[in-house]
Amino acid sequence: MKDNKENCPFCNADLQGEPIPVEQQDSNGATHFSRKIGIYDFEKDRTIKWQCPDCKGEWNR
Ligand SMILES: [Zn+2]
Repeated sequence: MKDNKENCPFCNADLQGEPIPVEQQDSNGATHFSRKIGIYDFEKDRTIKWQCPDCKGEWNR
């Protein structure tokens, strides 16, 4: 099982969210939702950064 535990690089907040119900877990093996916020770049058509919901710090993927 993949360890998807994460912490904010700025404030070290725990970014692991609620557990995902087993019946909703998909093939990527994630067992918890993530609290980090994806910053989407429409020109590049992909998520380019993550933002911490606590300190609002941003970091590159
Ligand atoms: Zn943070």
